[in-house]
Amino acid sequence: MSYVFPPPPQATLPVKGSDQLFPIHRIYCVGRNYAEHTKEMGGDTKDPPFFFQKNPDNVVSNGRFAYPSQTSNVHFEIELVVALKSGGTNIKPPDAMSHVFGYAVGIDMTRRDLQDAAKKLARPWEVAKAFEQSAPCTALVPAPQVANPSKGAIWVDVNGERRQTGDLSQMIWDIPNQIAFLSGLFELKAGDLIFTGTPAGVGAIKKGDKLKGHVDGVGDLDVTVV
Ligand code: MN
Repeated sequence: MSYVFPPPPQATLPVKGSDQLFPIHRIYCVGRNYAEHTKEMGGDTKDPPFFFQKNPDNVVSNGRFAYPSQTSNVHFEIELVVALKSGGTNIKPPDAMSHVFGYAVGIDMTRRDLQDAAKKLARPWEVAKAFEQSAPCTALVPAPQVANPSKGAIWVDVNGERRQTGDLSQMIWDIPNQIAFLSGLFELKAGDLIFTGTPAGVGAIKKGDKLKGHVDGVGDLDVTVV
């Protein structure tokens, strides 16, 4: 048997310090996982976590983000990205970290105007979250090289001005609990990425803006909006 047309290339992320590529399976994103951001979005910090997805080929790691169509209000959300080397179902929190391959710095680009409209109409979020190039990411840093992914500064500068700032320790649902919760809903697999939420201070970007995202111990993500 052969394919009716050539299959698309496998979506990947580079691995820092290696010539190997990490093949991306799915992208899960947690919503409202830092208390101050939850408040700025009008949510309740006591709610259980909720997730949405992006498409694997929404990842871009060439330092450029093309401003998308059908929006006039694209927001940046700086996030720690967790990459899995294995998965399963009903993973217990104490076992969760054994599935982690490594970490990246990512931005969950969001068409906020389309998201606001979707929320009002109780419609799904794909048009707001899962569009082309909506997931700029750094190369993955293997887990043994990241001293403590549960604590450390996370921030983003736009044109040299600090816009978002927080600490990984402010996550409402930490990494083990996110993995455990997700694995109760989905069968997690090697290649899955988890965007772990964003601190307060999200805001709009425009063409020409230069973003620098940072997570302590993981690195810097430089993105130019084109
Ligand atoms: Mn987000």
